[in-house]
Amino acid sequence: MDSQIEEIKNKLNVLDVVGSYMKLTKTGVNYRGACPFHSEKSPSFFVSPTRQMWHCFGCGAGSSIFDFVMKIEGIEFIDALRMLAAKAGVQLKRENIQLRTERQRLHEICELATAFYQKQLEGSAVGKEAEAYLLKRGITTESLKKWRVGYSPDLWNSLSDFVVGKGYAREEVIRAGLAIEKEGKTGDSYDRFRGRIMFPVFDLNGQVVGFGGRVFKQVGETAKYINTPQTLLYDKSGVIYGLNNAKLAVRKKNQCVVTEGYTDVIMCHQAGFENTVAASGTALTSQHLNILKRYCENLVLAFDMDVAGDSATKRGINLAQEQGFNIKIIESYGSGNEKSDPADIILKDPKIWEAAVSKAKSIMDYYVDSAFSHFEVTTPEGKKEISKIVLPAIKRLANKIEQSHWVQTLSEKLGIPEIAIEEELAKIKDEKSVAPQQTVPPPVVNAISDSQRKKLIEERILYLELEGSTEDDKAELALCMLELEKIESKNRQQKMMKDIAGEKDEQKKQDLIKEFEKEAKKFHSIN
Ligand SMILES: [Zn+2]
Repeated sequence: MDSQIEEIKNKLNVLDVVGSYMKLTKTGVNYRGACPFHSEKSPSFFVSPTRQMWHCFGCGAGSSIFDFVMKIEGIEFIDALRMLAAKAGVQLKRENIQLRTERQRLHEICELATAFYQKQLEGSAVGKEAEAYLLKRGITTESLKKWRVGYSPDLWNSLSDFVVGKGYAREEVIRAGLAIEKEGKTGDSYDRFRGRIMFPVFDLNGQVVGFGGRVFKQVGETAKYINTPQTLLYDKSGVIYGLNNAKLAVRKKNQCVVTEGYTDVIMCHQAGFENTVAASGTALTSQHLNILKRYCENLVLAFDMDVAGDSATKRGINLAQEQGFNIKIIESYGSGNEKSDPADIILKDPKIWEAAVSKAKSIMDYYVDSAFSHFEVTTPEGKKEISKIVLPAIKRLANKIEQSHWVQTLSEKLGIPEIAIEEELAKIKDEKSVAPQQTVPPPVVNAISDSQRKKLIEERILYLELEGSTEDDKAELALCMLELEKIESKNRQQKMMKDIAGEKDEQKKQDLIKEFEKEAKKFHSIN
């Protein structure tokens, strides 16, 4: 086993492994990014390609690629090993039965199901009709293969029987979310997806973790889309459809286009807009946003949203605004009164879609324009309704200058003095739009205190000064010194703030403030 771990380590580059999960920027010989394991404003997470190591100065986490994958995916060592072995193209020897964790078996079942559904789409009579329908909607055969689209027969047990025939228990098919247990009959079940076009949902490594099923030729009352329920592998609030194929483009463009549907994503990628994803059957959650934050700062949302209402969609957008994303909204990309999906527009002409993305409105423009088009600006009631929509959006802006810009704009447009708007703004409670559903936080290591951090860095500096000799050591030493300088500057600023607060003499106070500003400026220049 040990030699295989070495083999995997030799074949994989820490930069590729870590870089496939987060945005890294080159600094000297190292790379840095915002730590995915603790929340921070300035990045203190470093990757050293020559050492093949990663380390976070913020929370002290750091080690090999195996530890990184275990932490970020929240999985056991053996699963991380299997994942990285697959990535490295290393065949693990003696895969004994104990090593096959439940997670692994569920992965195998999802993989079997994907292959089964794909075969049905290509081979069965109704499957072929479904395929023809998809081709007519503009999805090419290559795209169907790339996204592994399939068809689930309209039968009660076809998939379950197939999977059980491969040596898995019916119980496991239920746990994979693919079958439903009959009420009061333990062990007896029926297939969850029947007579549907199947879209496998992939994790960041392209492994299938769940499915979305779109109704096809079914009559009667049935949902247009159904999805895998929560399973050991699948958590809809943490899965972003298409990100496995989009992540490189998203990082490169520092922009992610978020649509609503599976076909939107497939069509966008097909037309070359590869930075497109979709939230699978749910509004954006803080977990989705935490994942996206690793890749980009700019979101372009192709959502239908009622600005006056309180919808899950709107809450998701507010959440993204609070997390500091630059948000743009694509609006009215349909022609005439008929609103089309991105997939339909691309089928018509990809250029129209490209233009819609590039003309997307900033979230504030969007709120202001929609509010003013919804309500009559000349009446007092209209003014009140407009401010009810726009003021909370202004309040959520982190930047004071931006805030005051919008206060001014609103004042001009409403014909109301700025002071009145400021007063109303102050009345709005500083509430964070916490989504009502429970959100599972990402794997987080407790951030260590500044003094602990300082000690760690000082130890590292000492080591590097004594033992370091390579160019890499020198580069790391420089980074450590910079980190140390930042902590010390922060400490000085804190002390100065206390001094300023306690100073009674006005002249001395002004001098202290000047000194403080100098320190703060210095801090910003190194930060
Ligand atoms: Zn960290």
